[in-house]
Formats: sequence, structure tokens, C-alpha cells
Amino acid sequence: MTNKFNIHAQKQEFPGSDAQLQPQAEFISEDYLGSRKLVGKVALITGGDSGIGRAAALHFVKEGAEVAITYIKDCEMEKIDAEWVKSWVENQGGTCRIYPVDLRYSEECQNLVQQVLKDFSKINILVNNAGTQFINEDLATLEDEKWLDTFAVNVHSMFYLSKAVLPHLHEGDTIINTSSVNGYLAPGNLIDYSTTKGAQIIFTRALSNQIMNRGIRVNAVAPGPVWTPLQPATLGQTDPQLVENYGGGAPMGRCAQPSEMGPIFVFLASSDSSYITGQTVHANGGMMVGG
Ligand code: NAD
Repeated sequence: MTNKFNIHAQKQEFPGSDAQLQPQAEFISEDYLGSRKLVGKVALITGGDSGIGRAAALHFVKEGAEVAITYIKDCEMEKIDAEWVKSWVENQGGTCRIYPVDLRYSEECQNLVQQVLKDFSKINILVNNAGTQFINEDLATLEDEKWLDTFAVNVHSMFYLSKAVLPHLHEGDTIINTSSVNGYLAPGNLIDYSTTKGAQIIFTRALSNQIMNRGIRVNAVAPGPVWTPLQPATLGQTDPQLVENYGGGAPMGRCAQPSEMGPIFVFLASSDSSYITGQTVHANGGMMVGG
């Protein structure tokens, strides 16, 4: 298999950091020219400090949006990543505020939304992107706490935030959820993660049906393998060799860079996708999955 990015075996302390990725990831292509698709919009992006969320934030800013990004509170490596994003945005002449939060808790999600509304006076785009995963080969050894934790980060935060943001959204505003190809492939060693990613797809559809008459669209992105800190910090913790040539088994023979995800979020957040809701974009390097 082609290892186009020379990804070698590695691990990181959880939750991982873009600053420590070897090689460094690409978040936005030098060729990407924004065309004012999101001028006047405010986007709240969870996990916008790193990986796919960082790529979404940078692309939104190139399109004229202001961004509020979250990182895990009391976590220095995430704070460093978040501050990198803030500096990048400010160097572009844009606006970015960073918010430490533990999204597993309803009250923290509600406080986050209130604070963002106070700082920006509105929210137009909510990207429920924060996520976590743990490898487990045998259901008998999957601890209840791990199961609940995966659901709390991946599913409950999406519910808490959507509920808190919805009263403030208006016609033309959007919600985007980051699911995964594993919500469809359901690998046996990611049973809790895959279940949450499937739940995100159904939540996307049901919420879309519920609020379509308000002119608010809800869509999902289901990435395949993408080069982010999540992999060294989770797969790498189990076995650093699992990270070597990450994504080499995808039909395209490689993983994606986060820069290949960002434009999809722009599409779903902007009026370019005005006739699309309740759908999932499969950015997975050529895997054919249904729905
Ligand atoms: P990442 O590590 O860069 O981002 C995950 C983010 O989740 C972290 O930055 C962190 O800020 C946030 N987070 C985790 N637990 C949290 C908590 N308790 N409170 C607050 N924030 C918390 O990794 P990524 O790969 O960019 O992940 C983003 C999303 O993409 C996730 O939902 C993941 O499941 C999904 N995804 C990733 C891949 C991939 O190959 N990287 C593939 C498919 C889907």
C-alpha cells in the first residue's frame, strides 16, 4: 500500500495534539481561495483546536466567518493547539475565540453556548465535531464507564449543544455533525465508537426532519481515515504499530489530510447546499457505504 505521508508507528498521550503529530498534518491548502461564502456568520466548532475541527475552522475563516472553538478544559496540550488556531485566524485578520470545556456535561454545554452568544451575539453554524474512541477487542471487557464516556463525548454533547443552540438559529443556519465511516463499517474492535457514529447519523436525519420547516438544515460528514492526533492518542496507545501507514487500507491507499475535509464543511454550512438536509457526505477515500 502507498504510504503517501510517511506515517510511522507512534503514540501520544491522550487526548493528543496536532503540535506533536509526525509528520505534521495539513489543515488548509495554500491554493484555497475563499469566496465570501460565510461572511457575517458565526460558527461554533467543538474540537476546533485540532484535526478535522481545526480544518473546518480555518476554511470557515477563509470564507469570512467568525469562529468559536472548543478544547478540553484543564488540558495544556489542547490549549496549545487552540491558541495556534487563534493566532492563525488573527494573522488572517479574522476573529477566533477559544473555550475550554468538558462537553460530556449538559451544564457545561449550556454555559458554553451562553458565553459564545455573549461574546458574538449570535450563532449561525454549529459543528458537533468533538469525538473520542477506544479500542476494545472483546465486549466482555468493555467497561461500562468507557461505554458511557464514548457516548457522553460523541452523542450526548451533540444533543446538549443542539438543544442549547437551536432557539438561537434562524432560516439559513445549519448544524453539521462529524460522524465516521465506522458508523457504517462497524469494525469489531470499535463497538462503542461505531455505535455512537451510527447514532449521529440517525440524530442528523431526525433533527433535520423536525426543524426543516424552520429553514434550518442538519447534515453530517462521515470521514474515512484522516491524519489527526486522535489516532496516535487512541490506536497508538493500544499499539503504536496500528498507526503506521494509517489509512493505507482505504481504496485510495492513503488517509486524508484534514485539509481535504474543510471544504466539505464549507459546502454544508453555506447556501451552496441549500437543497441538502438530513444527508451524510462520505469523505472516505472511495469506500462504498450506504445511506
Ligand atoms: P482530534 O483529536 O483532532 O479532535 C477530537 C477533539 O474532540 C479534540 O480536539 C477535543 O477537543 C475534543 N474532545 C474530546 N473529548 C472531549 C471532551 N470530553 N470535552 C470537550 N472536547 C472533547 O481528532 P479528529 O480526528 O479531528 O476528530 C474529530 C471528529 O472526527 C471526531 O468526532 C472523530 O470521531 C471524527 N472522525 C475522525 C476520523 C479520523 O480518522 N481522524 C475518521 C472519522 C471520523
